[in-house]
Amino acid sequence: MTYNDFHYERLDLEKSKHLINEIISDFKNAKSANKQIEAIKKVDSFSRDYMTYQAMASLNFSRNINDVDAKAEKDYYDSISPDMTELYDRFDKVLHESKFKQNIIDEYGNTFLNQIEISLKTFDSKIKNLLKREIELKNDYTKLTAGAKIKYEGKDYNLAGLGPFHSHTNRDIRKKSYEARYRWFKNNEQELDNIYDKLVKLRHKIAVTLGYENFIKLGYDRMGRSDYGPEEVSNFRKQIVEQVVPIVSKLHDQKKDILGLDKLYFYDGINFRDGDPKPKGTPNELIKSAQEMYHELSPETGDFFDKMVNEELMDLVNRDGKRPGGFCTSFPKYDRPYIFSNFNGTDHDITVLTHEAGHAFQNYSSTHLPLVNYHWPTMEAAEIHSMSMEFFTWPWMKKFFKEDTEKFKYKHISGSLSFLPYGACVDHFQHWVYENPEVSPKERKDKWLELESIYMPWRAYDDMVFIKDGGVWQGQLHIYQMPFYYIDYTLAQTCAFQFWIKNEKDHDSAWQDYLNLCRAGGSLSFVNLVRLAKLSSPFEDGCLENVVKFVNKWLENFDIKSV
Ligand SMILES: [Zn+2]
Repeated sequence: MTYNDFHYERLDLEKSKHLINEIISDFKNAKSANKQIEAIKKVDSFSRDYMTYQAMASLNFSRNINDVDAKAEKDYYDSISPDMTELYDRFDKVLHESKFKQNIIDEYGNTFLNQIEISLKTFDSKIKNLLKREIELKNDYTKLTAGAKIKYEGKDYNLAGLGPFHSHTNRDIRKKSYEARYRWFKNNEQELDNIYDKLVKLRHKIAVTLGYENFIKLGYDRMGRSDYGPEEVSNFRKQIVEQVVPIVSKLHDQKKDILGLDKLYFYDGINFRDGDPKPKGTPNELIKSAQEMYHELSPETGDFFDKMVNEELMDLVNRDGKRPGGFCTSFPKYDRPYIFSNFNGTDHDITVLTHEAGHAFQNYSSTHLPLVNYHWPTMEAAEIHSMSMEFFTWPWMKKFFKEDTEKFKYKHISGSLSFLPYGACVDHFQHWVYENPEVSPKERKDKWLELESIYMPWRAYDDMVFIKDGGVWQGQLHIYQMPFYYIDYTLAQTCAFQFWIKNEKDHDSAWQDYLNLCRAGGSLSFVNLVRLAKLSSPFEDGCLENVVKFVNKWLENFDIKSV
């Protein structure tokens, strides 16, 4: 069976309501724990269908945003999504009041009910129409950015298609291509501002309607975070400023020497004078190499990747009409994940084959768990699997980068470390935005520049329109579509670095811990998953400091002149 053979249909909303209402009434009238567990299984089975069709509708549209039929299917699932949330909310309420709670915990562990308790706070029928509006606005952003046609040197490009010029060895090409990019943003500034302004105010309204003070705590609850809050995150960001910013600052100075430039601007994002490492080979060759790599890494990853290839569960190469970006989704009805990306000839293509494959491998490894809710963990935990896979596959990078392998490793480590201040800046910015929902678009951009001077004091935009006025974050889709997601990457990176360190010392035990983590899926909360994987929690004192020490030592020992 391949992806094209997967069954797809539009779930009928009225029928679904009827079915869930029946299950709810069975659940309420159940005289035994077993009867209630039976009802949970029925909802789970319904969810597998619903989530599968919804994911397929969304994926098919991402694969071709000009396909009218695909758009109609996605729109349909978008339109019923708040009603479905309402349905689940109704079931969750009776579940939450179950007299057999202990038996349910004995069967599924604590996480299932804990997550339900959090999720109950995030919904009320009163906000259903506001949720519909939120989905529309998020789609407006996708439509606008995915449909971008940017003229560069006489040809039209989409945003992903411009990528290779941004990392060109010729500074003039880098600058001009970025200018083309941000001219497009400048031309669409008002619309970008409007969409975000509406989203922020709408989210604030949803939060207040639900009884929250503002969107921040609701944002955390939507992410299903159960073991930490804004205070812990703020403390973590502070550590990034103290421990990481000085090292990244040093790397920035080192880059001036490497590139032979007196001053670095935003468009000097390359790492080496003769260019960043590029994968050697056609997309098909790269995929074949990845298949060999996953066979050599472990029997589990070998089986997994064979299925991804043989069942056509990947759409990797950039083409016209494809939504930008890369992601992993899943079809629980078939116990299969799917990888979507936009290969464009940069080293990022390989990171897709490791990062997104890490997500996919975790999902694939978790399908033995009894509840579909456990097939994915919360996002900060999910990014551990993907970012760690980037490191576990290091010994095979010469397959892809040949003579550029050492360059790739340097870029990977220095890039991952440099990412932490950026990630923290995006997070800090969002906290401020949702604390101050009434400020103007201009004030948001000013605030961005102010925060940048703390987290990335080395950033300079030269005379480039739009970004010199603080608009760069408007290209970051998470800020529009997945509020508060961004810090997850930094928390997970801190964990992935630990896997890298362990793997350097003792591969077998590191890999075993990683497998255990993948198999646990979402059956535990973030901090408990971290514990299961025998890692330190990023919120623990000294955790980041120890990680950064090791990373810094590696960077200091790296002979930059040798590459
Ligand atoms: Zn990811």
